[in-house]
Amino acid sequence: NPIIELRDVSFSYDEGSEKALDAVSLSVREGDFVGVIGPSGAGKSTLAAMMSGAIPHHYAGKLYGATLVDGHDTCDVTLTDISRIVGSVLQDIDTQMVASVVEDEMLFGLENFGVPRDKIEERLAGALDAVGIAGLRNREIATLSGGQKQKVAIAAILALEPRVLVLDEPTAALDPASSRHVFDTLHEVNERMGITVVVIEQKVALLSEYCGRIVVLDHGRVAFEGTPHEVFSHG
Ligand code: ADP
Ligand code: ADP
Repeated sequence: NPIIELRDVSFSYDEGSEKALDAVSLSVREGDFVGVIGPSGAGKSTLAAMMSGAIPHHYAGKLYGATLVDGHDTCDVTLTDISRIVGSVLQDIDTQMVASVVEDEMLFGLENFGVPRDKIEERLAGALDAVGIAGLRNREIATLSGGQKQKVAIAAILALEPRVLVLDEPTAALDPASSRHVFDTLHEVNERMGITVVVIEQKVALLSEYCGRIVVLDHGRVAFEGTPHEVFSHG
């Protein structure tokens, strides 16, 4: 069964405005590594918001169709329930992160999720390790590079043990080498931990190399979907 499924989903933020998503049907299976690409305004961030339950729980608007997360219609469950399955890393990680020290950022989510005291250290250290930033544990987030910050945001979500990780342009502010490091991390998370990855990304080379499947959005619609070879040789 798909872990996330959109069934004929249309959404507009405002009554009468253009649809940000227009009749999107899409399945993400457990273990997938899916890339989402498309021009600015295509609906990529809206798709991420739909998959992570921010729509309908955070945004008002006109919504048609259904989004199922692990079989549950996101309209019928709480955002907290959804967040235990889908962890999302927003585009603007500076607004997502709440603490000033890496360790505190990690603790914030773990405590919020009610993780038992005796499990917290293992989860915290494990997630930092999985992302390869154990050495940053006591650093001030403000002093980190963009790539390091991305990894902290990813680790903080991973510590909560989601089954799906949704990332909105994690490499947007990064140079090519750091972008590659972030994708290497996502690859590890996908392969070793079996976590499903959905990543919005504009760099075709990264998508080609790392993703099993690519979804091309345009004007709120799925314009094309397939393997990197199918998508990029299609033109
Ligand atoms: P991107 O194209 O990289 O997704 P945008 O500039 O479209 O970035 O959007 C940046 C932020 O502004 C997002 O959080 C998005 O939800 C929000 N946003 C985009 N368009 C509008 C709009 N017309 N009204 C209000 N917020 C918007
Ligand atoms: P992308 O991420 O592909 O750039 P978005 O999902 O951000 O696309 O935007 C899709 C459409 O929805 C755009 O027309 C954008 O202006 C609009 N939009 C996005 N976020 C908001 C928002 N918070 N409020 C109103 N309109 C928005």
